[in-house]
Amino acid sequence: MRWRGRKQSTHVEDRRGEQVPGGGSYRAGGGLANILMLLFLRGSPKSRIIVLVLLVLGFLLFRGPLLNFLGGGETPGGTTQQSGVAPDDEMYAYLSTIMGDNEQVWSQVLPTAGFQFRPAQMVIYSQRTRTPGGIADARMGPFYLSQDETIYIDPTFFRELKEKFGATGDFAEAYVVAHEYGHHVQNILGRLDQLHSLHGKVSDTEYNHQSVRVELHADFLAGIFARFAQETFGDFLEQGDIEEAMRCAEAIGDDRLQRDYGPGHVNPDSFTHGTSAQRAKWFNQGFTSGDVKVGEALYSLPYDQL
Ligand SMILES: [Zn+2]
Repeated sequence: MRWRGRKQSTHVEDRRGEQVPGGGSYRAGGGLANILMLLFLRGSPKSRIIVLVLLVLGFLLFRGPLLNFLGGGETPGGTTQQSGVAPDDEMYAYLSTIMGDNEQVWSQVLPTAGFQFRPAQMVIYSQRTRTPGGIADARMGPFYLSQDETIYIDPTFFRELKEKFGATGDFAEAYVVAHEYGHHVQNILGRLDQLHSLHGKVSDTEYNHQSVRVELHADFLAGIFARFAQETFGDFLEQGDIEEAMRCAEAIGDDRLQRDYGPGHVNPDSFTHGTSAQRAKWFNQGFTSGDVKVGEALYSLPYDQL
């Protein structure tokens, strides 16, 4: 896959190197906070005064660290990238280029289907980062959060793709981004709201079936992207790239569509994405048809005919 020299997206934020407290330090801080709270609520008036004095002193002397220790403060980012200055590394350049490609393709394709395009954001992070839905953890794999219309990705996932699934070329990585961008396109199409509105109203089985449709639809949209990228940028795809995307479709079974139930609910459930044969089929439908409307069949076909 050829990718160098194209316009890079300006909607990519680099948070690699940012220190976000993990379970361990949060528990430690939370523990102290709980003890202080207990002393304050259950203790004698004297112990309450001691707690208050300690807190006031602590706040005056160690404002930042104290807030962090109690688990309530913002941890200053290590090398958090603020907008404007692009980091100079291969992975950032690659992901920004693929994001730029998606912006270019969808800003052309969506209006022809009667929808207005708005760009998604991307956050590149390492290990953990904050999201409006809670803390994202690299173990979750890449995901799209509709609350802030952002794709969260820890690039070490790509190494895992290579090592575990033999997805070697860079199209596999582009495919992962295109699938996640597909979820953003679904958000614009209103398909995510539709899925979320079913929660609690249908059985778990029915909900899972519906989410399989949504996942296959994201693969379909990735296929549309690949087709238009090929047409727009020329030699975008090389021999074997589609097969690679198919292997990859299998591998990103860990990708989880985020359900937005409010803070603290990043990734509450995992569910299936359809079989790899189904995923390959729908990616190809997108690639060969290039027509957003063809994907609507995913929501009307009986489940066993997907
Ligand atoms: Zn997905």
